[in-house]
Amino acid sequence: MKKILCALSAAALFCAPALNAQSADHGHNHGLIPCGTDHQMARVFAENPQLKAEFEAREAQAEAEDRAAFATGYMDNTRSVMPPVYIIPIVFHIIHNYGSENISDAQVIDQVRILNEDFRKLNADTSIVVPGFQGIIADCEIEFRLANLDPNGNCTNGIDRIVSQETYIGDDGSKLNYWPRANYLNVWVVNTISSGAAGYAYLPGTAPSASADGIMILSTYIGSIGTGNPGTSRALTHEIGHFLNLQHTWGSTNNPGVSCGNDGVSDTPVTEGWTSCNLTNNDVCNAGVDENVQNFMEYSYCSRMFTIGQRTRMRNALTSNTGQRSSLWSAANLTATGVNNNPANLCAPIADFRPAGIVSICAGGSVAFTDQSWNGAPTGWSWSFPGGTPSTSTAQNPTITYNTPGVYSVTLNASNTTGTDGFTRTNFVQVLPAAAQYSNSTYVEGMENVTTFNNDWTIVNPGGNGWARTTSTAFTGTACMRYDNTGNSGGQVEELIGPSVSMAAIGNPVFTFRVAFALRAAGDNDRLRVLVSTNCGQTWTQRYAKSGSVLATAPTTSGSFTPTASQWRLETVSLNSTLQNAANLRIKFEFESDGGNDVYIDDINIVGPASVSSPDLNISLFTVFPNPAQENTTAMFTLAEQMQTDIQVVDLTGREVMTVYSGELQPGEHRFDLNTATLSKGIYFVRLRAGNGFVTQKLVVE
Ligand SMILES: [Zn+2]
Repeated sequence: MKKILCALSAAALFCAPALNAQSADHGHNHGLIPCGTDHQMARVFAENPQLKAEFEAREAQAEAEDRAAFATGYMDNTRSVMPPVYIIPIVFHIIHNYGSENISDAQVIDQVRILNEDFRKLNADTSIVVPGFQGIIADCEIEFRLANLDPNGNCTNGIDRIVSQETYIGDDGSKLNYWPRANYLNVWVVNTISSGAAGYAYLPGTAPSASADGIMILSTYIGSIGTGNPGTSRALTHEIGHFLNLQHTWGSTNNPGVSCGNDGVSDTPVTEGWTSCNLTNNDVCNAGVDENVQNFMEYSYCSRMFTIGQRTRMRNALTSNTGQRSSLWSAANLTATGVNNNPANLCAPIADFRPAGIVSICAGGSVAFTDQSWNGAPTGWSWSFPGGTPSTSTAQNPTITYNTPGVYSVTLNASNTTGTDGFTRTNFVQVLPAAAQYSNSTYVEGMENVTTFNNDWTIVNPGGNGWARTTSTAFTGTACMRYDNTGNSGGQVEELIGPSVSMAAIGNPVFTFRVAFALRAAGDNDRLRVLVSTNCGQTWTQRYAKSGSVLATAPTTSGSFTPTASQWRLETVSLNSTLQNAANLRIKFEFESDGGNDVYIDDINIVGPASVSSPDLNISLFTVFPNPAQENTTAMFTLAEQMQTDIQVVDLTGREVMTVYSGELQPGEHRFDLNTATLSKGIYFVRLRAGNGFVTQKLVVE
């Protein structure tokens, strides 16, 4: 996905920590607030011209009201309307996958503090607003309170946590668990916004639906602490400006610096907009008229103020029923959402814990559990670990050992003075035998024996179709693995996990497999990875990855792809010394779809290079002579029938150092000359694979 403005937002993230709310304004380019509001509204208007027409009619009226108010002197900074202070209940929906986007309550509370300073002119940095605008810095008399009651009347701290992969998508479809906009300002906090923006909002009456009306913003743009920072902590102030009917100071486009524009507010000078904090000689659009670079609706990254005209416009939005803004602050709603309770009630916790996904460990291994309870901070924890040692705990974050193979559930009861909540992850810890299932001198899997395959291999297809054993084709024998990529649009990751194998008996193991794959269209970037684990799947290390055209073994095929014999490629997976000595090694094939064609895998072999493994009666008389060799040597063998044949030279680690031959060979005797002058002195192995057979000869180069 193309990242709009990503370089600029990255610059902002890296530059911004140097700033703080009290620092002086500088002329540096701190990057954009990459706001997506106008981009989103343009998309909605394109699909719904009626919304656009209504918006333009309201805008004309708002501008007329603004001009009239301006003419009667709102520039004197007396209130254009009398109080009340409008109080708005706000809820933060944290859409997360237990990553850094699951920001702390403290970070959210810090953001609410910043909003209330900015909208009440209590921010200390108004002192460094340039003199020409000091007189029109507005106290907007708008405040925000985290909701204390949810739509069902249940206790909430105004921070709603939802586990979902939508955190990585971040569009209107990611706005989960919407609370009625008539009662709450909804803010959704995500890891990624797919349009590339840091945040976006809808001006009143422009959202495509009520349940999309609110603000979406990146977790790193919330607050000034935790994963936030002072330099980006005013982004939500800016987005709420939009939510309350403010445009960018240069008008309704996302891109500043293009042409002089007007925001329909008389006391914000016409401007092109600023992406840097240029506080002098900034009268670009009208000579002698300085522009309001420090306005919250700018991209200057030194935003400090709303104007009196902007205050008027926002307050007008809050007295209009457009987008149901006028019901937010009603006395009845403040009671219904509990924000009159001050301080807020302490809610009972909602219990949750990590790790989030199923845990797989070897018997004797241990798992670290982390409390993730929310809504009300727990003060007591009561864990239950059937099958674990200890089997109960009252620690917040206990580590538990499992000694007996089996599958176990985990329960957490989190409590405080208000109440208790229990949460169970069922069949959550998978404890596997520490001893490997296979400890022979070779491990060879051709998917031929269906019973063995079903006993040994685990298929994890969260997306539905994916990995399956097939007899529709094979490199050797009659069966192999196929990943069915039909209908995938991309992003699916599915796994094929093998049994545990001891490397000890193999000695200098060499891990090879056969692969066949075709792109469906040029540019497909499907990815095949091979990972290994030495701790029964608790952690995995990637040892192989190929994607797109590098993975392909056959021409691009738009229809169904079934490889011919010559469309398979032999792959070698490098194993480091730790893996070569592992007492318990597991293999995982992981395929990440990009909508390409099917991939096939066959002949998964882990064999010792010095051993003669899986001898085939069709191969005979394999010799390498002279041996030791100096300048060259000759490999000789006899085949009983026509077969696909591969000859390679590998070093002691199994790394291929020379490809001698790959292709079909006729029955009979064959001789291949090997130029060993190109090899460093040392010990190598000449590997011959023909059909199902796999034989190796040690080769010494002097
Ligand atoms: Zn904006």
